[in-house]
Amino acid sequence: MEKVAFLGLGAMGYPMAGHLAKRFPTLVWNRTFAKALKHQEEFGSQAVPLEGVAEARVIFTCLPTTKEVAEVAEVLLPHLRPGTYWVDATSGEPEGSRKLAERLLERGVVYLDAPVSGGTIGAEKGTLTVMMGGPEEAVERVKPYLAYAKKVVHVGPVGAGHAVKAINNALLAVNLWAAGEGLVALVRQGVSAERALEVINASSGRSNATENLIPERVVSRAFPKTFALGLLVKDLGIAMGVLDGEKAPSPLLRLTREVYEMAKRELGPEADHVEALKLLERWGGVEIR
Ligand code: NDP
Repeated sequence: MEKVAFLGLGAMGYPMAGHLAKRFPTLVWNRTFAKALKHQEEFGSQAVPLEGVAEARVIFTCLPTTKEVAEVAEVLLPHLRPGTYWVDATSGEPEGSRKLAERLLERGVVYLDAPVSGGTIGAEKGTLTVMMGGPEEAVERVKPYLAYAKKVVHVGPVGAGHAVKAINNALLAVNLWAAGEGLVALVRQGVSAERALEVINASSGRSNATENLIPERVVSRAFPKTFALGLLVKDLGIAMGVLDGEKAPSPLLRLTREVYEMAKRELGPEADHVEALKLLERWGGVEIR
């Protein structure tokens, strides 16, 4: 069976590569190599030095930004074989990825942007949504390898997957913050957040933020660290690039980016994205519960 490789065993990559290892011979590499060894032990993958992943027919990456993907690709370039597919699950940047795709094609390697949505829980369950950018034939060729996905949608040429992902995350950011503002006011008025959410989630104002994130993480006061605030702010920056590139009207998303930039300054990039609501709680003098 053809080998696959996964680079970047972070909060998302570690469980995603776990699903690959259950179905295919899987090589893994991580900058902090101890994580690759742990993965090997847990899932029966094979931890290899970076150059070692060039043996694989399909190479997956899930790194913070396109910058790190391009750096890793540059190191790997002399080792890569023609006919290799590079599936980039990073929430990356469209223009940088188009340049990377051209660079890889010089060696006969086909790059596809394939960011994911569904969070760490979706990665663990293998139920992620994948939005893919790239040539149709290549998308069809790699689809059977996406063992961590429940839904795969081909959205356009290289870069289109990243663009859709960035806009999706901008909507996540809007919904989360807007729900936080509304709930702070209701709590101050004496309505419990739990009761308010019971109504909203059976009504037209509901979103993933009101149905899942706020009840499970804010009302419960659990605030688990699954998706760093710094990464969401990165996605908002990518979304701005998409909007500005098209000269699209964007007053609300622009403001949303500013709000989250401020939250990042206040709470630090390592805070979880849902912790942004702690700022609203601080300003409003109440907890959302
Ligand atoms: P993490 O911070 O948990 O993991 C980042 C990974 O990248 C680690 O394996 C890290 O290695 C590696 N890395 C960081 N810098 C470098 C570098 N310079 N060179 C090589 N490797 C590097 O991030 P996530 O898994 O949360 O996110 C990864 C991508 O997935 C991001 O683009 C994010 O926006 C996206 N995403 C995240 C979701 C989430 O819920 N967390 C959901 C959907 C998409 P090391 O172990 O050595 O630090």
